[in-house]
Amino acid sequence: MTCEKCMDRYLSLDNGEALPRGIRAHVAGCNRCMTEIRGFEALREEMTSLPPESDRDLADEVMMNIRRLSPDRQTVSTGRWLAVGITLLLSVALVPLGRSYLWVRQTWGMSFDLPLFLVLGIVFVLYCTVFIAVHVDELSHRFKILDAFLK
Ligand SMILES: [Zn+2]
Repeated sequence: MTCEKCMDRYLSLDNGEALPRGIRAHVAGCNRCMTEIRGFEALREEMTSLPPESDRDLADEVMMNIRRLSPDRQTVSTGRWLAVGITLLLSVALVPLGRSYLWVRQTWGMSFDLPLFLVLGIVFVLYCTVFIAVHVDELSHRFKILDAFLK
């Protein structure tokens, strides 16, 4: 057995599983693998001897750091939202002018138009729905301003 194969087999063992005969035979004649395996065994024993409380403290510390580093709420500027909306709308409007659309139309005829524009319309309506849901506070504020203007 080669050293590489020996270490592969060793690393595929479950924690605390007894060494198979092949690995024991190789390790008996190979100092390098014996040293490496002893190092792993010492490390495993050290890790299992750690008190369980230390794991929880580490997890709490990691979670505190994650909360501290990541903002509570990610926001996308209204300008970017509008840029995406305009791009989407232009894409829908420009589809009939595209070369691939003409090819599709020549190949399948006009029966392709209705499903295509239904899908594009649904995508645009979904975008508008998400836009309104995300900006509901801003929009209601603007409409109140408009209401005050109309009175
Ligand atoms: Zn070896």
